[in-house]
Amino acid sequence: MNGLMMHQQLLVSSILAHAERHHPTTEVVSVRCEGDVHRYTFRDMAHRSRQVAQAVEALGVGPGDRVATLAWNGYRHVELYYGVSGAGSVLHTLNPRLHPDQLVWIINNADDSVLFFDLTFVDIVRQIAPRVPSVRKFVLLSDAEHLGAAWPADDDLEVAAYEDLVEAQDGVYTWPAFDEKQAASLCYTSGTTGHPKGALYSHRSTVLHSYGVALPDSMGLSARDVVMPVVPMFHVNAWGIPYAACLTGTKLVLPGKDLSGAALITLQEAEGVTISASVPTVWQGQLDYARANGITLSGLHRAVIGGAACPAWMLRELRDVHGVRVIHGWGMTETSPMGAASVLKLCHEGLNPETQEAVLTKQGRTLFGMDLKITDDEGTEMPWDGRTPGHLMVRGHWVINGYYPPGRPSPLVDGWFPTGDVATIDPEGFMQITDRSKDLIKSGGEWISSIELENLAMDHPEIEAAACIGVRHAKWDERPILVAVRRPGSTLTAEELLGSFTGKIAKWCVPDDAVFVDALPMGATGKILKAPLREQYRKRLTKD
Ligand code: ADP
Repeated sequence: MNGLMMHQQLLVSSILAHAERHHPTTEVVSVRCEGDVHRYTFRDMAHRSRQVAQAVEALGVGPGDRVATLAWNGYRHVELYYGVSGAGSVLHTLNPRLHPDQLVWIINNADDSVLFFDLTFVDIVRQIAPRVPSVRKFVLLSDAEHLGAAWPADDDLEVAAYEDLVEAQDGVYTWPAFDEKQAASLCYTSGTTGHPKGALYSHRSTVLHSYGVALPDSMGLSARDVVMPVVPMFHVNAWGIPYAACLTGTKLVLPGKDLSGAALITLQEAEGVTISASVPTVWQGQLDYARANGITLSGLHRAVIGGAACPAWMLRELRDVHGVRVIHGWGMTETSPMGAASVLKLCHEGLNPETQEAVLTKQGRTLFGMDLKITDDEGTEMPWDGRTPGHLMVRGHWVINGYYPPGRPSPLVDGWFPTGDVATIDPEGFMQITDRSKDLIKSGGEWISSIELENLAMDHPEIEAAACIGVRHAKWDERPILVAVRRPGSTLTAEELLGSFTGKIAKWCVPDDAVFVDALPMGATGKILKAPLREQYRKRLTKD
């Protein structure tokens, strides 16, 4: 219709086209599996992404076909993000931390046609290749020389070198225009119960999510920043940062496979990283290393922490020792993932640091484009009083409306997606996760927040990690106990740890016991697995 705004499809390729045209000299720095550091510009990346699109088409991959990756954060992986999706195919990122049997199941379920993999994953590919018949081409993300060293030429399984495929193309390619509702990428949730399920992101949802990620009260990315996604590109698209960086012209630093505190800090300091994003356990590695070596994270301004609750001590140490502002975020595979971020409002500015800390350790408020509510078991909306917990429900432009492959019953309830999290929301809209529904501890009919107890335990200077679980109790049905890891050299007792809770929470919420272990069981996405702990300590408080 005349007299209205233009209508352009929101396509992933348009983000890259913008970066190439308006931020051509912005750098992308990657630590490669080959062992060196690679750097080039958005202009180079755009050219090579077009070569990738041509190469993928030359392999016979058509619109909508799935192309799998098994790779760390690096420039070749970003080229696949844009090249595969830009050509109209679907980029399917695989999580290498999953068991090979699970990878086989996921690849077969997604019917992937090509698999691109990093040098690190040669052994995994050897194991799974005979069991994934839909994959007709395996491509090592390196050059012919490294392929020759990793894979004998007379091997039964034929593998191509990525660099050969890319160099065979001229990069003269016009990104195809198609409907923004088409699929761009696919990520399976780790599926702690049952088989994994796919979240299929559309071009439109990806572009809108990138705007959300870039907003000032979200990650606040700009062309003056240097962003380092430590969160993996193999799970939920590294929280959308590879897209958001091109949308905003932000220098991108990609750390590769070594996620130790030492490696990350060295890279961060060398490249002038101003904002970095990872899960609490990875931040812990950085802080431990910085503390032990008397290092201050001088250039870093913001730390995005999510995937699991950010403990208060981490927020304080980053703020007070390193001058870094923590942005605590919440999200899930099904929400692309950015759902909420904890950034103060004007009304919080004058508050004292302790009160601000209580706000900042919440999982935060949502962004335009997403909406939240909490409900009781019957679906009635609960008040936003910051105290009453309810089932957290979300809806928005970048929330799934069903799982991939289609055909299962819709997970939606009245148009809202049930997150499986339990949360409170305060009058300013700050949401706080108190539990996963399956981890809820019901003591004598009351709900006890396992996350609050874990946070309190981790606030103890001698505690490195803690999980709170509900175990059977003769009188109260269930009572909380703590399973914790002490810091090296600590001789802290259960009584001392539980004594530190006094005055901080209601007496009836204090755990009944604490056990110390060497390590907690972790899942493929870096979350503590509570199911095996519940099984192991089931009878801790009862005799039968
Ligand atoms: P999975 O692959 O296990 O689905 P996700 O990355 O999708 O992994 O995990 C989503 C879940 O992680 C959320 O539903 C929530 O329980 C938890 N989570 C994410 N961020 C936070 C946070 N900041 N605090 C507490 N829990 C979080």
